[in-house]
Amino acid sequence: MKRSRKVKILATLGPASSDEAMIRRLFEAGADVFRINMSHTDHDLMRTLVARIRAVEKADGRPIGILADLQGPKLRVGKFADGKVSLTIGQSFTLDGDPEPGNQNRVQLPHPEILSSVEVGHRLLVDDGKLQLIVEATDGTSVRTRVVAGTSISDRKGVSVPDTTLPVGALTEKDRRDLDAVLATGVDWIALSFIQRPEDLAEVRKIARGRAALMSKIEKPQAVTRLSEIIELSDALMVARGDLGVEMPIEKVPGIQKQITRAARRAGKPVVVATQMLESMISSPVPTRAEVSDVSIAVFEGADAIMLSAESAAGQYPVEAVSMMNSIAEEVERDPTYPGIINAQRSEPEATGADAIAAAARQIAETLDLSAIVTYTASGTTGLRAARERPRVPIIALSPVVHTARRLSLVWGMHCVVTEDAEDLDDMVDRACRITYEEKFANPGDRVIITAGVPLRTPGATNMLRIAYIGSDGLGGL
Ligand code: PGA
Ligand code: MN
Repeated sequence: MKRSRKVKILATLGPASSDEAMIRRLFEAGADVFRINMSHTDHDLMRTLVARIRAVEKADGRPIGILADLQGPKLRVGKFADGKVSLTIGQSFTLDGDPEPGNQNRVQLPHPEILSSVEVGHRLLVDDGKLQLIVEATDGTSVRTRVVAGTSISDRKGVSVPDTTLPVGALTEKDRRDLDAVLATGVDWIALSFIQRPEDLAEVRKIARGRAALMSKIEKPQAVTRLSEIIELSDALMVARGDLGVEMPIEKVPGIQKQITRAARRAGKPVVVATQMLESMISSPVPTRAEVSDVSIAVFEGADAIMLSAESAAGQYPVEAVSMMNSIAEEVERDPTYPGIINAQRSEPEATGADAIAAAARQIAETLDLSAIVTYTASGTTGLRAARERPRVPIIALSPVVHTARRLSLVWGMHCVVTEDAEDLDDMVDRACRITYEEKFANPGDRVIITAGVPLRTPGATNMLRIAYIGSDGLGGL
């Protein structure tokens, strides 16, 4: 399976997309990576989904990435005696630790650490900001607020506290259990929700011990403030626009999306743009023009991946949503303005051998109009540096490590193939040419550029560039 676009598509699995046939259809329609949302998936179902994705992968042979998304410290109010109450603007409303069902005057907020850390004047945004409360008094165990906007609240609604730095790490007890389970299942990526500080990553990294790569979801103002440190410690980023748009003024989200995408591209870390990309396709077979435009902006910006949430997890048109995203991406990438816009955000190579080689490989491939850049990458680092160049030609990443190939499936422009290490230089050239030919990126007589490290099998030592012809037998010629 070969894609004719650079940007990748991440599709969330859920009730609308749990059986193997549907996962296969989403993959065929264009999904490169699947997200399992641990907020809504128990461990048995998670393991079943992983097994089904792996079955689809095995049948096709193209490595598929799996992202397990941990819920993080998502705050929710308790329950009400009647499920729901009406409120009036200006009234006072108290949040406390009492598990008794709530009423018009109060409800439980079962997070003592939050009750003790909000301060007078802080905002509490309930149900994605539909209800706004301002803190008027606090005694450390309960918080009296005034209703500023909105007139109802119901069972287990989410609460955002944009003004409060939470005195908690990124992992709740549930996250720890989920993390152990997903690591044991062998997922490729772990997404961390509501991280606030770089330290939040350290805790997870210690537990993960390299078994999965870490994606930081930027959805708190505190994380935006410390963006560059967080990027440095992350393997990838997600612009989590859903919660970001609640925690920050919504009109700031587009600019922040650009800042995060550009900073991640500069650092050479994959970046995903997420949430409400084709929201109306949850219940309609066609998107709105505004949504098409929103998806196109992420593609023009050079994001590594664009994501579907409820559209593929719970909507009525999961396959149509993936296929629409695929069509938008292909069309944007064919647009005559696209190369110029992508190139405008290219950063200079850093002063390393890997970057110098990646930059030279792109230059040569474009000058000579070669068919592909073939990079041997065991850990994935060389592959990521090649993608950072955002070359016009496809990047074929050859790796002996299946985990590397699966992780790189999230990355812009990368076509991953698992293959054993080459025996010697001749075998390396032959193998690169044969795979490029077999995967239909080149015909006999076309040329590719190969990057590798010599001596072979020395990690982190990419130091060689070689231009090779595809011979008439699909192998490397002179
Ligand atoms: P969620 O994260 O779907 O897990 O909430 C994405 C977002 O907030 O945009
Ligand atoms: Mn979120």
